[in-house]
Amino acid sequence: MSKPSLSQQVEELRRQLDETNATLRAIRTGEVDAVVVDGPDGDQVYVLKGAEQPYRIFVETMSEGAVTLLRDGTIAYSNSRFAQMLQMPLEQVIGASLFSLLAPDYQDRLQPLLDRALQERCAGIVPLLPRGGTVVWADLSMCPVNLEQERGICLVASDVTERKKTEELRAYLASIVDSTEDAIIGKDLDGTILSWNHGAERLYGYSAEETIGRSISILCPPERAGEALDILQKIGRGESVERYETERVCKDGRRIQVSLTVSPLRDLEGRVEGASAIARDVTELKRSEAELARQAAELARSNAELQQFAYVASHDLQEPLRAVASFTKLLAERYQERLDSDADEFIAFAVDGARRAQRLIHDLLAYSRIGTRGRPFAATDCETVLQNVLADLSAALEDTGGHVTHDPLPVVEADETQLGQLFQNLIGNALKFHGTEPPCVHVSADPIPGAWRFSVRDNGIGIPPQFADDIFEVFRRLHTSAEYPGTGVGLAIAKKIVERHGGRIWVEPSPGGGSTFCFTVRAAERE
Ligand code: ADP
Repeated sequence: MSKPSLSQQVEELRRQLDETNATLRAIRTGEVDAVVVDGPDGDQVYVLKGAEQPYRIFVETMSEGAVTLLRDGTIAYSNSRFAQMLQMPLEQVIGASLFSLLAPDYQDRLQPLLDRALQERCAGIVPLLPRGGTVVWADLSMCPVNLEQERGICLVASDVTERKKTEELRAYLASIVDSTEDAIIGKDLDGTILSWNHGAERLYGYSAEETIGRSISILCPPERAGEALDILQKIGRGESVERYETERVCKDGRRIQVSLTVSPLRDLEGRVEGASAIARDVTELKRSEAELARQAAELARSNAELQQFAYVASHDLQEPLRAVASFTKLLAERYQERLDSDADEFIAFAVDGARRAQRLIHDLLAYSRIGTRGRPFAATDCETVLQNVLADLSAALEDTGGHVTHDPLPVVEADETQLGQLFQNLIGNALKFHGTEPPCVHVSADPIPGAWRFSVRDNGIGIPPQFADDIFEVFRRLHTSAEYPGTGVGLAIAKKIVERHGGRIWVEPSPGGGSTFCFTVRAAERE
């Protein structure tokens, strides 16, 4: 297109001047109504009231509140959206003071904002308090405007309550993320670190500035170089990743054991765009686990060793002891009353000592065999076991004049021989440690979930409560063998048998005197 000629340009300017003059004439004569407002470059311009119409439609239909304020904060004009934000009829909004529509604790802060808005464009977020009573946060954009009588403020208000809530929630979540001891790291699917909380800073020693934008592989030891990226690929494919434990390298080169939980980060459409990893330092935990396992193995080894020692010692001592016992017995038979009375006494001590040592060795051997020589468990009828035990104890029953009663007894999952030994030791003790009355013993069994709780109750001398645990230890006795014969191994054997069966044993005082020994045994499956 050719440039307009000079005469054409002069003609156009003249036409525009004529038009402007005609307009000014019309304003002056009152034919056309107009107001003066600030133009875009700060000049004052006339806006024709007739031409205001499209702007009014625009203002009335916009999604923000539009308001004209007088300098003291009185609302000279409001669109209906602003009235809606305040949940008030428009007539009540116009003429009201903006101060009266703010949350009370915020009113002091409005005046400085208005003072500024009378001078220049400015913005601020204020809490409006609608009649409904729930605060509406409004983002105000304000600029000065020359009204007919005075300078005022043109204000556009957007409801940002939701945004504010989201921001508050985000700040709240961010403070949780930042205050946790765990490291929380966000990264995209390529492994580029996007976020790095204080926990991560504490755990790995790098600051957020040092890591954001770098690859997550900086934390992987060389032999696990691809691990983090492999996990991200899995996450990207939509596969879930179980919590796992691995090794990571800190900024100072230290290697730590971490437990990692990796979860996908999704965009608004639900597409996986990255992952967040929560890492916890488990170095100490792993160390103590390993230490615990080492100690448990050590304990098992020394237990086995001890058991083996007890077995070998008691087994191998049997032979020489048998010789000592039989020769002292021979000595007693042949030389009784043929030497002097001292010699008779010494021989009697030697015979008795040898017999006691034999009994001790015998019991110790029995004790050491519980764990190693046990038979597999099978359904065992306790009534039958008890009958056999009572037959074996018939001499003791006769000697003491005692009697044993029992409730119906169940079938349990047990090693029959050991169960017999258990009953024998408990009932044998009940008969042995009787008081002045002939011993009365009662055996009962009560069901508990998955097991039976047995009780062997006697009316004997009782056990002081402070010894209730001690008596289950090997060789622990509360009396001399002159008072009551025994080796102090019977209850240790009973405890070992119960524990081998997965139960526990304890003693309680019997109501009315005496002791009640209780133990648990698993119920037989086919009951
Ligand atoms: P022993 O019977 O050979 O002494 P045990 O291991 O069977 O060894 O018992 C340990 C100690 O517990 C006994 O010496 C005795 O003091 C006490 N005791 C065991 N059973 C009873 C009981 N029924 N009444 C009173 N005391 C008992």
